[in-house]
This record gives sequence, structure tokens and C-alpha cells, in this order.
Amino acid sequence: MPETTAPIKRSPEAPSVELTELTRPELEDALGELGLERYRAAQIFQWVYRRGVSEVEAMTDLSHEHRRVLAEHFTITTPPVARHDVSSDGTEKFLLTLQDGRHVESVFIPDTPNQTFCVSTQVGCAMGCAFCLTATMGLVRNLTPGEIVGQVRRLADTLHLRDERFNIVFMGMGEPLHNYDNTMAALRILADPHGLAVNPKRITLSTVGLVPAIERLAAEPIMPNLAVSLHAPTDDVRATLVPLNRKYGIADIVDACRRFPLARRSRITFEYVLLAGVNDSVDAARRLAGLLHGLRAKVNLIPLNPAAGIPFERPSDERIDGFGRVLAERGITVSVRKSRGRDIRAACGQLAVEGAKKSAAQRLADAIE
Ligand code: SAH
Repeated sequence: MPETTAPIKRSPEAPSVELTELTRPELEDALGELGLERYRAAQIFQWVYRRGVSEVEAMTDLSHEHRRVLAEHFTITTPPVARHDVSSDGTEKFLLTLQDGRHVESVFIPDTPNQTFCVSTQVGCAMGCAFCLTATMGLVRNLTPGEIVGQVRRLADTLHLRDERFNIVFMGMGEPLHNYDNTMAALRILADPHGLAVNPKRITLSTVGLVPAIERLAAEPIMPNLAVSLHAPTDDVRATLVPLNRKYGIADIVDACRRFPLARRSRITFEYVLLAGVNDSVDAARRLAGLLHGLRAKVNLIPLNPAAGIPFERPSDERIDGFGRVLAERGITVSVRKSRGRDIRAACGQLAVEGAKKSAAQRLADAIE
């Protein structure tokens, strides 16, 4: 007995579609066009995302005929690991190869306090932050939804974590809000109840402060936690670190954060990379506390991960502690990111930076265009 009433369409010459690029509603439409029942999308999502199957043939609750049609029309790709480094502190860094031969970095952090995957949203980045290694690449291209989710699928498989609970942070290479649609599609795929079913509360998106996109995000039905890379309490200092500050200044960002709808008990994270002698003074800490007054905020201090070609230094531990203490005394929840994976060069971009480097002027132009 055939399982469908509609005729199964066959078009061997039709180009294959990468199944992992589709959200479940998109897959339902694609199946409908092929004459398959739309609800099969949920079944297929379970195979691909829960069980980690990459061959249609293995989807044994589909008929042979359905599997044949699916295999004819879809590919299922998981990016291969080009390099895998394990740090003495447990951090694991992956360099993954995309289909066009480009590379992206993804990091597994075992205990923050939950296990976390840090994934990239772009190859390179257009934002040009002065201390960031990825910035030296310029923007090469956006990642597709399937490439963003593919990092999670690859890491979960390699580390045998598919059945475990984990957090996801969009804090790898790239600016997620500069690749808005693909990042949001990836979020919907990750959160899909028939797939990995990651609770959006366990997903955090980190942005350099693209204010219109933060406002757009505020109206999304599925929303991640928000982290904002602030890095300085005054526009003059911030503009020297984050070129985009010339377009969206600190007041604009803080206003957008005040308007951002927060779930009960949740807070916006402000990331602050500490750079010796640049933004690490007690005065800067006081100003930062003043800026965040009345916001449901927490601060994540990130001592610079130094790298060749980055013209800044990490402050001393005393200086880092002093900065944190000023915030804590003013009632702000503050965490200091452990310096992780230094022996495997886990600073964002340290493995993947290669190829043509844009001039600083070009990066600035790209970032504020
Ligand atoms: N573009 C997004 C997310 C990617 S970067 C953003 O800017 O938030 C994730 C975090 O790592 C950001 O806070 C970024 O400023 C920080 N970062 C970049 N380079 C760093 C370095 N060398 N040392 C420490 N933190 C760095």
C-alpha cells in the first residue's frame, strides 16, 4: 500500500536541497510539493536532529518509496572537523570545514556552569573591533542557517552530547545581528520541539550593538537571551574600540536594552573586554555601574585574550578584581570569564584567521556603512 494518496512527484533533474537549511515549516512545504504528507517533517526532524542520522536510508519509519524520493531531492550535510584541540582546562576548540572550503570555529566549554557550545554566525566579521582577531579577516560571508546549526550537530556528535542538555551561545566568529535572518532561522531550527528542542532560555545571542536589529529581535516570537558587547562606559573610549559606536552610541544601546522585553528573572548580559590602561580603571567601573543603574543587567568581564597583532594587553589580576569589586559594591552581578583555552589559542578567530586581511580603513567603512 502506498502511504500517500497524492502521486509522488519525481524530478530526477531537480537540484538537491540541503535539508538542514530548512526550518520545519519550510520542510513541510518542500514535502508537500513532492506529494509527501507534511507531518513527515516532524519525523524527519527527529531523525536528523535527535538521532543524528545523515542518511535518508536510515529513516526506517518512512516507506522505501518515500526514502527514495527524499534521497533524490535532499542532501544532509554535517561539516567535517578540520582540527580539534583540547585545552588543559577542558575547553575544546573545533575548526570545521564548510562546503566551499572556508573554515569556522566552534568551541565547547564544559562547565559555565552548564556545558555550552559557542558557535559562529559568519566567516570573518565586518564590525572591526580593535582587539578582535576575527575582525582582521573582514567579512568573508554569512553562514547559512544549516551551517550555524551544523556546528551544534557536529560538536554534539563528536562529543556524544546529543542526548544531554546544553547551552548555546552565538559568540563565535561574526556578528549574529549582521546576519539576522539566517541566525533567527538557525534559532528556530535549534528550538524546534521535534528537533534538538533547545529551550531558547538556554540560547544567548551576543551583539556588538546593532540597535535597529536589537529592536527587531525584541518583537520575535522565539527570543534568545541578549548579551551586548559594551567594552567601555563612554562614547569616546568605545568608539576607539568598536567602530560601530559612531553610528549607534552607548545611549542608543542602553535605551534599546531598557525597552527589550525580558522574561521573568532574566537579565541582559553586558560583556566588557578588559584592556590594560584603556578601559580598566576604577573610574571606568564607576561610570559603567552608573550607566547600568536600574537595568536588569549583569556584567561579564572578559580579560583580553591576547594574540599576535592585537595591540592591547590583558590587565593584571589585581586590576581585574578591582574593577569587578567596584561593580559588585554597587549591586551589579558580575562574573569574570576564566581565561580559557589559552594553550589552544581559543580566542575567537585565532584558528581561522587566514587569507586576505582588509585594511583597518576598509573595516571601518564596512562596519558603519
Ligand atoms: N559580534 C558579537 C559576538 C562575537 S564576539 C559581539 O561583538 O558580541 C564574542 C565576544 O568576544 C565579544 O564580547 C567580543 O568583544 C569578545 N572578544 C573578541 N575578541 C576578544 C579577545 N581577543 N579577547 C577577549 N574577548 C574578545
